[in-house]
Amino acid sequence: MGGHEQSTVASWDAIGFRRDLHAHPELAFDEHRTAARIGDVLAAAGLSVESGIAGTGIVASLTAGSSDRRIALRADMDALPITEATGLPYQSTKPGVFHGCGHDGHVTMLLGAALHLSHTRRFDGTVSFIFQPAEEGRAGAKAMIEDGLLRRIGDTRVFALHNWPQLPVGTLATKAGPIMAAADRFDITLSGRGGHAAEPHLTTDVVLAAAETAVALSTLVSRRIDPAQMAVLSVTRIESGASHNVLPGTASLTGTARSFDAAIRDRIEAELRRIVQGVATAAGVEAEIDYVRYYPATINDADSVATALAAAQAAGLTAMTAERPSFAAEDFAFILAERRGAYAWLGQKRGDDDPPLHHPAYDFNDAIIPHGIAWFTELVEQELAA
Ligand SMILES: [Zn+2]
Ligand SMILES: [Zn+2]
Repeated sequence: MGGHEQSTVASWDAIGFRRDLHAHPELAFDEHRTAARIGDVLAAAGLSVESGIAGTGIVASLTAGSSDRRIALRADMDALPITEATGLPYQSTKPGVFHGCGHDGHVTMLLGAALHLSHTRRFDGTVSFIFQPAEEGRAGAKAMIEDGLLRRIGDTRVFALHNWPQLPVGTLATKAGPIMAAADRFDITLSGRGGHAAEPHLTTDVVLAAAETAVALSTLVSRRIDPAQMAVLSVTRIESGASHNVLPGTASLTGTARSFDAAIRDRIEAELRRIVQGVATAAGVEAEIDYVRYYPATINDADSVATALAAAQAAGLTAMTAERPSFAAEDFAFILAERRGAYAWLGQKRGDDDPPLHHPAYDFNDAIIPHGIAWFTELVEQELAA
């Protein structure tokens, strides 16, 4: 206690730390430098640190007092395969790799809270700090669960935040129930008998079948899903052919479906299979469907949402109930499928022209670092009130 730790906390340069991570982004499951830097800061502050979980994941714990109550807080660490176009002095030093979702900011805010709490210790119980790899499409949260995350954090509620460019600085929003969508991916391969473009009657035309498939799938949500439900399906890629005078033998389509309700999700997959097979049969081509449900919906527990909003208010933020969920997906969903908790959006909006998340010019707003630190700190001090 005392002077040394105080100076550690007071002198920690949060913005400098964030910008260093930003300049050295790492893709999913490759967050070795990031994890090492996090581990060093946590160990210097006296936390007990377990690293190497699911490769690069970290669980650090901090105990104060004697209560067996617990809370867990989570941040994601990975960057995106995007070439940064911000022109910032600390922009990515790695071509094609960019912290375009602000996970460098998430890490910094959770680390700042860990440092602050290790100094103040105004709580009674144990806090687990989860630093997770591979949120961007690679299900790092699931990998950490498979590598013993739940045993390490115990029976506890879990909280996480995401910076939110649409929300003003100084606000935090969340809602009970679904907050982020379930995300599915489909890949469809159509195979037929190609041939001469001037003799279509001797072929089975996969190009036309692919076009018909895309049109038919774009009616799936509007015609097969209850209008009162929320869902979206997008065909994002159609590929076939190489020449103006050859009818190709194969075509492929890719796309994504998003939903919030398990029964709706089942129905989308079943209807997609039925529609694709129906179009293929009519066109006389073979269809192969690869349908992958990669992230479930992120479902907030109502009590935990109340806790999250109360903590935001205590942290001096404007606490808001979000009107609707986002159709983006989030692998914190895997943790909330196993533990109660809440996921919240932390406002970082500078103006109406702000580039969105995953845009090459996206820019994490360092002004919100103290907001995230204060929210995490309040969650701990309320949940584990001394
Ligand atoms: Zn992202
Ligand atoms: Zn993200």
